[in-house]
Amino acid sequence: MANFKSKLQSVGTSIFTEMSMLANQHQAINLSQGFPEFDTPDFLKQETQSAIEKGINQYAPSIGLEALLTSIQSLVSKFYGAKLNLDNITVTSGATEALFVAIQTLVSAGDEVIVFDPAYDSYEPSVNLAGGKCVHIPLEAPTYQIDWEKVKRAVNVKTKAIIINTPHNPTGTILSASDLNELTNIVTQNNLYLISDEVYEFITFDGNRHESVLRYPELFERSFVVSSFGKTFHCTGWKLGYCVAPKLLSAEFRKIDQYVTFSSFTPAQIGIASMLNNQINHVSELSGFYQEKRDRLVKALEGSKFKTLPSKGTYFVLADYSEISELDDRDFCHWLTKEKGVALIPLSPFYETDPKQNIVRFCFAKNDQTLIEAANILTLL
Ligand code: PMP
Ligand code: GLN
Repeated sequence: MANFKSKLQSVGTSIFTEMSMLANQHQAINLSQGFPEFDTPDFLKQETQSAIEKGINQYAPSIGLEALLTSIQSLVSKFYGAKLNLDNITVTSGATEALFVAIQTLVSAGDEVIVFDPAYDSYEPSVNLAGGKCVHIPLEAPTYQIDWEKVKRAVNVKTKAIIINTPHNPTGTILSASDLNELTNIVTQNNLYLISDEVYEFITFDGNRHESVLRYPELFERSFVVSSFGKTFHCTGWKLGYCVAPKLLSAEFRKIDQYVTFSSFTPAQIGIASMLNNQINHVSELSGFYQEKRDRLVKALEGSKFKTLPSKGTYFVLADYSEISELDDRDFCHWLTKEKGVALIPLSPFYETDPKQNIVRFCFAKNDQTLIEAANILTLL
């Protein structure tokens, strides 16, 4: 193909696909790609099925069904005290699509976007496709805290936006109120925009509250806040999420969104609206549910040579395997999957520059029996 040039030359297959495929191939216990092993709640399934049976199977409005927009409006008011209008909210086909559209909305050729490594894998290709460039600020184990002085130094005339992710995949860290205040100062003083990936917003541990950007009106004025129902309702395969933004940004977001997917799966929008209106306890109880899972896995690994790092949110926990192997993290994960039957995720693919650490990610969104079985194998290493 003489005149063909890849737009993503350095991109291969995602590490999630790579590790899940390897896990399937070797029938390994899959603690790699982040998806729940348990099913989506019965009520949500019934409400969605009932929408299908009733024939609600055609295009939803591009911005999302009003019933769902209204339930999202109540959700963010209940949890964050944010008073939004419906024109602030757009339903999307998962958070990945919302992130992509938010990035296309903001970023033009030559713009720089600050990301923190380890960074979720979809940010950089989306920035590159918009003609922009990511400026990576590496975070260091074990706290992975953001050094805001480094951020200030990274900002220049080309900087357009910062992308944050809290609770953070893959590290399980969360941003504090003081982080959000630092961020507000940097964003407002330098006339920047923010994309806040909050897909794990309802999964925080040990009484820590999620510091959503929606709690910070001054910051929100310059932000796109992205979330995903896949994480909240154990339905990652439905690919339903949303983006919240101030009116002007929201209008620009919607222009692009209508030409990416136009609209999102209608029956699930009915189901999720009904779930939010009738079974909000599911959301309030999610942190407790996952905290038990975290504790079960961490305790089960105490007898192993893995050294777990603190996880304050998400359904991931990191662990150092230095006492087990000298292999690099990717080779270690391949070896562990093929030879021992447990699949994990290496951390280096989330970095621009490999920090050469022996740290891997465990997903604990699994049944207790699965977690224990995996830990039993890992304790023998
Ligand atoms: N951001 C982060 C940090 C994620 O972990 C994920 C998925 N696990 C996404 C975005 C994408 O969410 P979705 O599946 O709704 O596209
Ligand atoms: N976000 C999920 C994870 O971190 C994976 C999603 C995907 O495979 N794209 O494991």
